[in-house]
Order: sequence, then C-alpha cells, then structure tokens
Amino acid sequence: MKLIFLGPPGAGKGTLAAKAVEIVKVPHISTGNIFRAAIAAQSPLGLKVKSILDSGALVDDATTIDLVRERLAQADALQGYILDGFPRTIPQAEALAGFSGPDKVVNFDIPDTAVVKRLGGRRTCRQCGANFHVVFGPPKQENVCDHCGGELYTRDDDREEAIKKRLEVYREQTAPLIGYYRDKGLLADVDARPAVEAVLENFRKIL
Ligand code: AMP
Repeated sequence: MKLIFLGPPGAGKGTLAAKAVEIVKVPHISTGNIFRAAIAAQSPLGLKVKSILDSGALVDDATTIDLVRERLAQADALQGYILDGFPRTIPQAEALAGFSGPDKVVNFDIPDTAVVKRLGGRRTCRQCGANFHVVFGPPKQENVCDHCGGELYTRDDDREEAIKKRLEVYREQTAPLIGYYRDKGLLADVDARPAVEAVLENFRKIL
C-alpha cells in the first residue's frame, strides 16, 4: 500500500503515520524527519538545509525529490510506504508520479487556529523524532521521550513566527495538491480535529 499523508503542519500527520504503520505494515517516511536527522548529524545536507527549516520555508524541489527517490528505492519501501510531508509542491507530485504512483492520498483537514494551538505546545524527541504535546499528549515524564528516553525539545520552526510562515507556505504551495489528487480520484478527506484515536479510526475506514 502506497500512501501519502497530506495536510498542514500540525494536522497530526506524523503522529498518525507512526500508528498507521502498525496497520498497513509499510515504512513511515517523513522528509521533515530525514532533514532533521541530517541537521543533527551535521552532514552536508544538514548544513545546507538548517536555516531553511528554521525559517519555515521549503527546501528546494530538486534536493527533496532526489532524497525521496533514493529512499523509495530502498528494499523496505518497495512494497509500499506512508509518505509524510512529501510531496509539498506540484513539481514534487509530478516527479513522484514518474517513479512511484500512490494508491491513496489521505488529506488531513484542520483549521489554522487548531494548528497554532497544536504546534505551540508540541515537543519533539531529539533522538527518535516522536512528538508529544504539553496539553493534548504529554510524555509520562516531563521532557523525556516515552519511546526511547531521548530529550524532548521545541523545534525552532514550532515558534510563533515560523508557524505563521509554514501556514502561508502550506496555503500557497501545498494546498493546490488537494485539487491535484482529487482530480486523479486518489483523495480521501479525514477530519484531523478529534483526538488521535478517533482520527485513526476514520483512517481505518478509508482503508
Ligand atoms: P515537517 O516535519 O514535515 O513539518 O517538515 C519540516 C520542514 O522540513 C519543512 O518546514 C521544510 O522546511 C522541510 N521539508 C519537509 N518536507 C519537505 C518537502 N517535501 N519539500 C520541501 N521542504 C520540506
């Protein structure tokens, strides 16, 4: 099963994908997580993209497309995947169609006001990338990841100015993908406002 998770930042795509992989048994591939891991490792890719991520802008299409093409060619992704955060532009979607067509695109729908609340309270694990929320999904122990014991931090792009910028970028560059995939008959809408278990249940129904 080849799935794309589409939706604004803060819609819960990453949290949902982490749970959905248990159901569909394919790898969760998040371009944001790959970029953040590269930044943490201070690799050439990480050094190139750090300031872009911090500002909330998008990494250029060519770099992102190459990265995803290579990742999807790995053995574990040949049978399927959940792509979270890719594609984010029409050229990325067109490039993807050239090397791997999705079976379904799940569009997680949520208003901006809810996004701002969610991202402002989000805490991310430095080690494994898992997300928590100070109000909606706190870790068992403050600032410690439930899964791997890593330290939780606030992503630079979860600060107020960057959140505004990411929502703007989403509206201008990513939202057109909703119509693009709807026209192809691939889109399924999911209301992303309820708590994660309810959203997961709706995702099951789509499958
Ligand atoms: P995310 O974790 O999906 O919110 O992504 C964090 C940041 O990584 C984004 O704000 C972009 O700077 C960058 N990024 C992730 N995926 C893409 C993509 N498909 N195209 C361009 N930039 C991306």
